[in-house]
Amino acid sequence: MKSKFQKIKGTYDILPPESKKWNEVISILQSISHQFGYEEIKTPIIENIDLFKQNIGYETDVSKEMFSWEDSSSNQLVLKPEMTAPVVRAYIESGFFRSKPLCKLFYIDALFRREKPQKGRQRQFHQFGIEALGSSGVEQDVEVILLATKVLSHLGITNTTLQINNIGNHETRKKYEEKLNGYFSDYKSNLSKLSQNRLENNSLRILDSKEKEDLEIIKNAPLINEFLTKDELNNFKTLLSHLDALEISYKESSHLVRGLDYYNGTTFEISNMSSRSQNALLGGGRYDYLVESMGGPSTPAVGFAAGIERLLIESSMHNKNKEIDFFIGFDSHAEKAIRIANQLIDEGYSIYIDTLKKSEKNQLKNAIKMNASFYLRCSELIELKNLSSKEECVINNITDLKKFIKS
Ligand code: AMP
Repeated sequence: MKSKFQKIKGTYDILPPESKKWNEVISILQSISHQFGYEEIKTPIIENIDLFKQNIGYETDVSKEMFSWEDSSSNQLVLKPEMTAPVVRAYIESGFFRSKPLCKLFYIDALFRREKPQKGRQRQFHQFGIEALGSSGVEQDVEVILLATKVLSHLGITNTTLQINNIGNHETRKKYEEKLNGYFSDYKSNLSKLSQNRLENNSLRILDSKEKEDLEIIKNAPLINEFLTKDELNNFKTLLSHLDALEISYKESSHLVRGLDYYNGTTFEISNMSSRSQNALLGGGRYDYLVESMGGPSTPAVGFAAGIERLLIESSMHNKNKEIDFFIGFDSHAEKAIRIANQLIDEGYSIYIDTLKKSEKNQLKNAIKMNASFYLRCSELIELKNLSSKEECVINNITDLKKFIKS
């Protein structure tokens, strides 16, 4: 039978049993973040459009369109397409820059981008991410990368590559962009439509392109290394030596730029080796200028964001089929069943009441299918069956029940 209504293009439902795995992944993400001393932040789904337009450069990137509208008071609103800008907005608004000299935050949230839906790319998706604000030390970059690798290993995602680069400060980046612009302009007519567009606004982003016609041109594009200052090169070397000491393997990738306007210094991306398209699991880097550009004090910062859907696809965690303690069936003796269910809940047990009043045979079959430990049938008598030992008895009350399950 076809429903009268369908979900919106690019969105999806998280249905059981997938929702169980989803929650397990979320609780792993939360517990690792807490282990590293990060605190959770939640921000509204809607924001003012300028938060992303002015600071992130979203309007310059045609592939990242936002869901936006004007409300009745002529405010231009959007469903948030990313989390770094909202986190920074909240960081400044809350005064955390005063109260938390080193502020470590993590988030798990739904984001919205009007992109062409395809496998691993939805219009509503979820990200887990962390932001460390206040430290310019290369050790902070290392901690952020270490946390990312711990997340992946706890989720059983193994076959991954960490690509890492340093894109320098704004001055370095500007010089590099000029050089790139010149290089790509020479090939303008051979570039994809998307990259031709990016050439007008942000030639750095062309390096992110996965379009076939761009790849060959990108291969020979100038490298950032030639533009990095001595200090930037030394910093990068120190970072890599810390990673070596932690035995985190990486691949230096001088074309990894993460094109959003606010990045500088370290950039990194972890991708999966096995899947062919949309294989970036997470990406991040430094954004030392963003807080100031949004009206806060000059504050260095570093973070990453991971797509939860992609983590779920790649995770080798198995759905632990959680058992139900008591499957409760009844015929006409509903009151007995409801009373005992109430007592079992108060005792802390998990229950499943079958309100379909099916036959004992049918209920027993379902109880086994649902992995229940006990089957309780409330009829003239109350019968209790241990589904693993097959022992059974008749009980009068919850005290009898407790004696039986302890025996
Ligand atoms: P970004 O914010 O674009 O740097 O993306 C960070 C991560 O979020 C990516 O590596 C993906 O895992 C995930 N991601 C980004 N866009 C989407 C999308 N449209 N659908 C699903 N996951 C996404």
